[in-house]
Amino acid sequence: MYILRSLYFGWVVGVLLFAPWGEIRAQASKKNTVVVIDPGHGGKDTGKEASSDKYLDEKALNLLISQKLGNYIKEKLPEVTVIYTRDKDTFLSLEDRMELANGYKADYFISIHCNSNPDKSVYGTTTHIHRHDLLESKALALHIENEFATRASRKSRGIMDVKQRGHNLYVLQFARMPAVLVECGFISNADEERYLNSDDGQSIIASAIFRAFRTFLQENHPKEDRSKVFRVQVLASEVPVATNDARFKPLDMKVVEMQDEKASKYKYKYAVGQEYTLEDANDLLKKVQKAGFKDAFVITTQ
Ligand SMILES: [Zn+2]
Repeated sequence: MYILRSLYFGWVVGVLLFAPWGEIRAQASKKNTVVVIDPGHGGKDTGKEASSDKYLDEKALNLLISQKLGNYIKEKLPEVTVIYTRDKDTFLSLEDRMELANGYKADYFISIHCNSNPDKSVYGTTTHIHRHDLLESKALALHIENEFATRASRKSRGIMDVKQRGHNLYVLQFARMPAVLVECGFISNADEERYLNSDDGQSIIASAIFRAFRTFLQENHPKEDRSKVFRVQVLASEVPVATNDARFKPLDMKVVEMQDEKASKYKYKYAVGQEYTLEDANDLLKKVQKAGFKDAFVITTQ
C-alpha cells in the first residue's frame, strides 16, 4: 500500500513538475471529451488590423470570443474539458498550436478568427474545414454556420474546404482530430466591425458556436480517422539537410524530416504534406513532380 501510494505520489509530482500545463493534463485525463479552443494570432501577430483606435485588432477579438465560448462550454457541458492554445496576448506559431492540441490528444479543435477584405461591402461568417470527406469536421462546421444564419441572425457565407480555398490552412491540415476554423465576420466592414467589438455581438457569436458544438456532440457521426497519414517523400540523404534548404524552395511547402534508424545508408528522409486519403496524396505527388522532384513518391506514416 505504502509503495503504491508513494508511486502514485511520485507520478503526480512528476506530472506537475515536468509536464507543461501539468494540472490541465491531470484534469483532462479524468474527463471524457477534450476540446481545444484556439484564439487565432496573438502577441506580435495582430491578425487583421482594426480600422481605428476605438476598435480592437483581430487577435484581441479572437481571444474575447474564444473565452466566452470556453465559458459557455465549461458552464453547460461540465463533462467537456476546455483547453486554450493561449489565454492571453501571446505569440504562438501554428506548429506550437498543433503540437499542443495533438499532444493532448484532444477530441476537437476549434480555431477562432475574424476576416477582412479590401472590398468593405463584404460581410458574413465562414467556417473552414480541411476536406469535405472529413465528416465530423464537416458536420460541426455545418452546425456552426446554421446557428449563425438562424438564431444569431448573421449572414452565413457557408463552409469551405481546401479545394474551394485553393490553399491549405495549417491548423486544419495538421490537426489529428476533427477541426474547424471559424471566421466570425469581417472587421473590414463597418457594421460588422462594430458588432464584433460589442460585448453582445461577441456573446451571440460565441453562443452560436457553443450551441452548434452541443448539438454536434449529441449526434452520432461516422468517425473521422486521422490516425494514418500520407506524405510525399522528396529526398533521402546520408547526412542531415536543413528543412529550409534551397533545394526545397521550388516546393513552397513545409518540409518535415523523418529519421530512419533502420536504414543502412540514407537515414534522413524529407517529405511534404499531410493527407488523409491516397487520392489527396496522389494529387500532391503530381504537384511535387511538377515542381521538379521527379522521383518523389507517396509514403504512409502513423
Ligand atoms: Zn485570422
